[in-house]
Amino acid sequence: MLEDGIGDTVRVSLTEEPEFEIPVARELVARYENRGSHEPIEEIREYPITPYAHHKRTTRQVLNIGGGNVPRVFADYASAALKAEDLKSVGYEYSTELDKWNMSDLACDFLYLGMNDLDFEIPGTLGIVNDYKHWKTVQKELSYPLYCADEYLDAEEKSAVLNFIVVNSDNLTGQLIEAVLDDTTVVFVLSTENMHGMAEQRRMIVKLMNKGSTAPVILKRSYKGVPAANLLIYPPTDMGSILIDGLGDGVWLDSDAGQEELSNAVQFGTLQATRTRISKTEYISCPSCGRTLFDLQQTTAKIRARTDHLKGVKIGIMGCIVNGPGEMADADYGYVGTGVDKITLYKGQEVVERNIPAESAVDSLIGLIKEHGDWVDKPNT
Ligand code: SF4
Repeated sequence: MLEDGIGDTVRVSLTEEPEFEIPVARELVARYENRGSHEPIEEIREYPITPYAHHKRTTRQVLNIGGGNVPRVFADYASAALKAEDLKSVGYEYSTELDKWNMSDLACDFLYLGMNDLDFEIPGTLGIVNDYKHWKTVQKELSYPLYCADEYLDAEEKSAVLNFIVVNSDNLTGQLIEAVLDDTTVVFVLSTENMHGMAEQRRMIVKLMNKGSTAPVILKRSYKGVPAANLLIYPPTDMGSILIDGLGDGVWLDSDAGQEELSNAVQFGTLQATRTRISKTEYISCPSCGRTLFDLQQTTAKIRARTDHLKGVKIGIMGCIVNGPGEMADADYGYVGTGVDKITLYKGQEVVERNIPAESAVDSLIGLIKEHGDWVDKPNT
């Protein structure tokens, strides 16, 4: 909403002490102090998107991007030589004992290497993206080229499967869109340097839609020089509103060397928060207030420690019965305080166990999840 200039006050609700909410709220708001001075963005005359409902833009499938696929996640290693152990930061760990790669739930889909090579074998599920000039010289299996607009139109060699064209609002011309309209191998990478980058990227997608293009798009943003704390805030606000409107077939976040793990987690977190790709357990906990009947922070941490491997399960943790059930309306399971050290458990909106002692309530919650078939054991336990 703030990206679209709507809203006069904000409240950030965290499962922490209220004073920790203020710095986050300040950082959010600070980005809009000077936003009106952004570079101009071409006016939209025909808006093909319904802003009041979620409709995924129809895109054609190119390899595993677009169509019915979840948005893809890119890891940017263009500025550093990559070693096999570095991949742990983006969800892949090599086991020498078993001679195989283990993937976490946050395993990225593509590695951008720019002009760099790899000297080890990568997992088969991972795609490599190289700059076109370099791609021409490397082994083509699992590697796909990235062109600028002119390069693509003049290229002597192209991938038969997947070609990325990086564009900004200046070179995403009607001529380019028409030239590749029927090319079923093209995926656009939308890049922006505009201070109001969300609106500029949205404008580019609208242009593609109005020209009848169904090419998938990757939202690329650069956060070089952005401190880690702000890296948690900027990408979700920049990319989140586009994803919520059903636009975007992938995310690509370019940050400082050393922030790969955080960047990867932020990308998956943004997709999870926009419900476009669920990769972990979802917790809906209330911010707590004077009505809270147990230590919400400690209990949330306890529940997370036992359940954070249950991909796709939504657990509501609410401090009181007054507003709790309403606030966790779309949770699969609910853990709600109903008296001092008394917890009531819910399956969806139905009460299943009333006023059980807090000391055994987490075990009872796990039992309930097992009973309904949503439990799996933690890996390696
Ligand atoms: S659910 Fe209850 S305890 Fe939690 S913030 Fe709302 S009113 Fe307060």
